[in-house]
Amino acid sequence: MEDSLTAYPPSISHDQLSSLIFNIKDWQITHGMQLKYGPDVESVSSTPIGVTVFPTTFPRALFEQAQALQPVYNRLYAAISEDEKWLYKVLTGLIDDGRFAAVLWGIHQQVKEEGYVQDITLGIFRSDYMVHVTPNPDPLAHHPQMELRQIELNTFSVAGGAHSNKTAQMHQFMLNNGSYTFLHSPQLSNNKIPKNETIDSLAAGLRSAHTAYGQSRYVKSSTPGILFVVQPRNVNICDERPLEYVLWEHDIPAYRAIFGAQLLEHTTLSPSRELLYQPSSLSEGVEIAVVYMRAGYDSEEYSLGGIEARLRLERSRAIKCPSILSHLATFKKVQQELAVPGVLEKFLSSEEAAIVSRTFAPMFPLDKESRAGRIGRQLACDPATASSYVLKPSLEGGGHNIYRRDIPGLLSNTPEAQWHTYILMELVNPLIQKNILLTPRGIYDKVAAIEDRSDFDAENEAEEQSSLDRLSTKEGGPTVSELGIFGVCMWKKPGPGWDWIMLNVEAGWSFKTKPDYIDEISVVKGFGCFDSPLLIDT
Ligand code: ADP
Ligand code: MG
Repeated sequence: MEDSLTAYPPSISHDQLSSLIFNIKDWQITHGMQLKYGPDVESVSSTPIGVTVFPTTFPRALFEQAQALQPVYNRLYAAISEDEKWLYKVLTGLIDDGRFAAVLWGIHQQVKEEGYVQDITLGIFRSDYMVHVTPNPDPLAHHPQMELRQIELNTFSVAGGAHSNKTAQMHQFMLNNGSYTFLHSPQLSNNKIPKNETIDSLAAGLRSAHTAYGQSRYVKSSTPGILFVVQPRNVNICDERPLEYVLWEHDIPAYRAIFGAQLLEHTTLSPSRELLYQPSSLSEGVEIAVVYMRAGYDSEEYSLGGIEARLRLERSRAIKCPSILSHLATFKKVQQELAVPGVLEKFLSSEEAAIVSRTFAPMFPLDKESRAGRIGRQLACDPATASSYVLKPSLEGGGHNIYRRDIPGLLSNTPEAQWHTYILMELVNPLIQKNILLTPRGIYDKVAAIEDRSDFDAENEAEEQSSLDRLSTKEGGPTVSELGIFGVCMWKKPGPGWDWIMLNVEAGWSFKTKPDYIDEISVVKGFGCFDSPLLIDT
């Protein structure tokens, strides 16, 4: 593998790079690979999302391993979502702490008291991995050992499906139309990007849930719809809208409502708790068969209006993608608990548990009662050992991790009584490769966190152009990639002897690449780029 990577990607001249970028940007703007900014009544401001100039090579065996694991991961997280007692035991510390998990648990309790009226849940999951490299113990072997390490499993508001689908098509187009031919790269000529049909696969999952719901029960005159629950001022509509368009192509009405006040304003529950949505364009309300959550993952969204909106959705008869208990299953505390020896076997056969646990990185709790917690505390407080770890709080939504030598300081400024809300995870020793990254702010080392694009203006555009012009070496820089495998799973509350899993499939992939010196990978925030794996045999 190393040998096949040394000359990859090939060096190119300034003019060659400019020509590739020209092709890439044209492809992006004509295929909706954009981030959307600003008020847009008369016009719209958008910019191409970050992508790599080349696909990045990736070991085929590890890609296939990740794909094969997905149905097992799907069933594992479906089972966890239905094991309320176990979830409560694992999350008690967070629930008692009164923060985000407590809000979600409180909503669950309220609905449970009244009684849930929908037994079916749809999960759209994504399991994220990096390639972990260890020196080969065999002194005669040239190659280091590479294995998949799971970073996290997302069960809620999983993004990146549409952008990854488009990125794969874009790199495939560049391969097909000869854009890379002049580089005479054996890797580009001899290897393949795997098919990516994630948009259709995720939409198919939503369609299955729509079918499982059946006919409208309350608004008998029309077909029930699917409601996308989204964030306001959404920059990432190009990752959501394509799913909506596919649904309409299949004659399934799909609508969007903003989480919180707008959702409350436009929805009601019938006496038998069908969710009714009132689109502004129609005089009649629509019955909602499936609620697809693309918002509500950040604790900040749970103002009183946010809580009330979530409660209304959970109380309703609509199939939730996903349920509130599946949402709680994505908390990192759950991931850490699953890595405790013997726990996986509660949900999986011993063979399945063995293959799943092989993808786990060492993880520790930080409570002071358990032995593992005390070891975790020791590792986290000593700067020498902390340098191999990442500290993750149980706040989802990205951007909350604390890395390496920042860990002891953060803990010393945090009351000890709160330490148990974090988990400590060993850092992956990632496979380092090379690529040229095009971010909304320029190329590779111009990567900057873009939390707020209100400053986006012509000056930035000029800056981007000049950073392009300044590039004289086109070697690219060291990069790290992250593979995400999507899974779609639909299940109903298990009962004795029931075949409770209704659908369980691997549903596509996402692949992201970042400069090796940056810890976070969010493409929307400008840290990383969408990429495609060029599968190579090792
Ligand atoms: P979230 O997406 O909820 O912020 P993640 O666990 O996915 O949390 O961490 C965010 C990013 O931090 C990951 O995408 C990855 O780039 C990096 N990261 C997280 N855990 C590790 C790890 N164990 N080793 C190396 N990098 C990691
Ligand atoms: Mg993540």
